[in-house]
Amino acid sequence: MVLRVEIDEPRCVAAGHCVTAAPEVFDQRDSDGVVVLLDAAPPAGERERVREAALLCPAAAILLHERDGA
Ligand code: SF4
Repeated sequence: MVLRVEIDEPRCVAAGHCVTAAPEVFDQRDSDGVVVLLDAAPPAGERERVREAALLCPAAAILLHERDGA
């Protein structure tokens, strides 16, 4: 399973829940708090946290694409 993360940046309301859920994958810009994607293809160990981040995001700004494969 390959997980790819995409951010719909204009939707981000800088709530920061993603950073709390998965700090290895998401950060926030210092200037305005908008999300910064650190890893668009997170390793297996991060996937549950990334899914949680997507669920917690109040703006639905985190898009996940999953497909089979290495
Ligand atoms: S949880 Fe959503 S709205 Fe909040 S900073 Fe992350 S992407 Fe932006």
